Amino acid sequence: MSYGKLIFRTLAILTASILAIWMAGRIVAIQSLNDLSVHAEQRTTLYASSLKAALSRFDYLPFVVAEEARILGLMLAPGQEAIQRAANEYLERMNDEAGAAALYVLDAEGTTVAASNWRTPESFVGQNYHFRPYFQIAARGDPGRYFAIGVTTNQPGYFLSYPIRLSDEIVGVAVVKVDLDPLQHDWASGGESIFVADENGVIVLSSQEAWRYHSLRPLPDDLRLTLNKTRQYNQTDPLLMNWRDQGPPSGGLQPVSVQPETNAPLQSTKPPGLYFAHATPLPDFGWSMYFLAPDNVINADVAAARIMTGIIALALVFAGLYWRQRLHTRKLRRLSRAELEARIEERTRELQEAQSSLVQAGKLAALGQMSAAIAHELNQPLAAMRTYAASALMLIGRDAPDQASDTVSKMNGLVDRMAQITGHLKQFARKSPKQLEPTPIGKAVNNALTLLEPELRLREVSVETIIPEGQADILGDTVRLEQVFINLARNALDAMEGVNNKSLTIRLESEDGFHVIEFADNGPGIPAEELDQLFDPFFTTKEVGKGLGLGLSLSYGIIRDFGGSISARNALGGGAVFRIALPVYETKQPHAEVA
Ligand code: ADP
Repeated sequence: MSYGKLIFRTLAILTASILAIWMAGRIVAIQSLNDLSVHAEQRTTLYASSLKAALSRFDYLPFVVAEEARILGLMLAPGQEAIQRAANEYLERMNDEAGAAALYVLDAEGTTVAASNWRTPESFVGQNYHFRPYFQIAARGDPGRYFAIGVTTNQPGYFLSYPIRLSDEIVGVAVVKVDLDPLQHDWASGGESIFVADENGVIVLSSQEAWRYHSLRPLPDDLRLTLNKTRQYNQTDPLLMNWRDQGPPSGGLQPVSVQPETNAPLQSTKPPGLYFAHATPLPDFGWSMYFLAPDNVINADVAAARIMTGIIALALVFAGLYWRQRLHTRKLRRLSRAELEARIEERTRELQEAQSSLVQAGKLAALGQMSAAIAHELNQPLAAMRTYAASALMLIGRDAPDQASDTVSKMNGLVDRMAQITGHLKQFARKSPKQLEPTPIGKAVNNALTLLEPELRLREVSVETIIPEGQADILGDTVRLEQVFINLARNALDAMEGVNNKSLTIRLESEDGFHVIEFADNGPGIPAEELDQLFDPFFTTKEVGKGLGLGLSLSYGIIRDFGGSISARNALGGGAVFRIALPVYETKQPHAEVA
């Protein structure tokens, strides 16, 4: 691969990976934002209902107090100690029973005339609450609801008020103060960030103490004047939350940053907290409830998704590289195997060529060896023919045509015999065809013996051929088979040099789908240590110039080419036996039986 291509691919993979990582982050961000939105809504609904339950529990209490005879009695006769005591005890018992923070009664001027906490140091009795809106609302004849921090107790509370009427005249106000501290403690222990902002945008209830009485937005001047009078937050200037939107809302969630001001002398430089805020109005109170989820919840999910995607991308890249490498080595292996096969083929062809030229060389060598005997063989009929020709001429001269023709036909017989010998020689010298064909063994044996006959006769060898009737075919070619037989017979001749009563037995048998031909002589046999090497090329025990050591190795190759085998052993009575087994060739292939 070129350098440019490599850089291009690397860049492509890198870009794809980064894109995948970014996409995974986006998808997970959207998904977990959705999840968070659902969660925030569920939580705010739950918190809102807990708040409503906490407040409405005491709705009935100011009304009941306003109807109570002991309270009405106090309104009729203020300052009467026994009546006052009865009222105080009544409020104390009622408050204990109901579990509110305080229960008390104001007169028409807003001064506390009886209170459940009359025995305690923080007793409301004698305190004037005329400035409190809950008094003013009730004094006008309506039930009042109001959140404020207690002026006396400095405790946040929710005040519910109800007018006390005597024959249609409002003579006082009954008030219950609900303590919201336990609720806030509950929220805080839940570990979630939740707060309630009142109609002024001031946080009146919060699970985080540091946020309490902070304002979401700067308060306008006229509101500050009012607060001065009502002392709602027991101070005129609430600290700021520094509440800022960070981007557009999505799915009911508003990304915000929050950095609440503190009163600490050293302004801490704490970085702003980042949240997703979900707000729900609480119409009963004119308030809003906020649920804040830290944005790192989502950031953690997104980071996890990105890391996972990165790991997967990396794994894919490595898997790809590994796969490429595998393919590459496989290709190399395949290539080298193909190359190897090609080389084997080439060598085999070379070997076959070498072998066939060796076969040819072997044949020519055999011809050379035979030539003397053949020349001798041809000389005899030639000499005879010369004599016959002379006598035929003489007979013609004597005008004895019958006798002359008799002589000439004898000459004819001699010519036939000579033609037979030269014909065999010509065929033997021919280069053998590549194609194998049905070859009768008996004929090849006879041809070989015909070619060797002069020599056999010269050396007085008695040849016995034991060949059963009928044709024994193998798949091969006559000339090469003849060559093998000539080699074996010639070796036998050489081995029997100096032996009396030389005999060569050629036997053909058929067994188990094989034709078996054996050449047995009565020579000295083969030394045991040479049996293994006989068929090796150039193995010879003959003197230089007499043998090349190729005859048996060529024969071995020829027989193998015909699908057969050749082996040598010593006969029990001495002498060597060469055994050739060749598969039987059947003209009619046997058909598979049909069941
Ligand atoms: P060459 O005849 O040129 O030596 P061959 O391959 O035909 O080559 O024979 C190899 C050797 O095998 C011969 O030199 C001889 O020692 C041994 N041999 C072959 N035929 C016979 C046999 N019939 N009897 C004893 N030895 C034999």
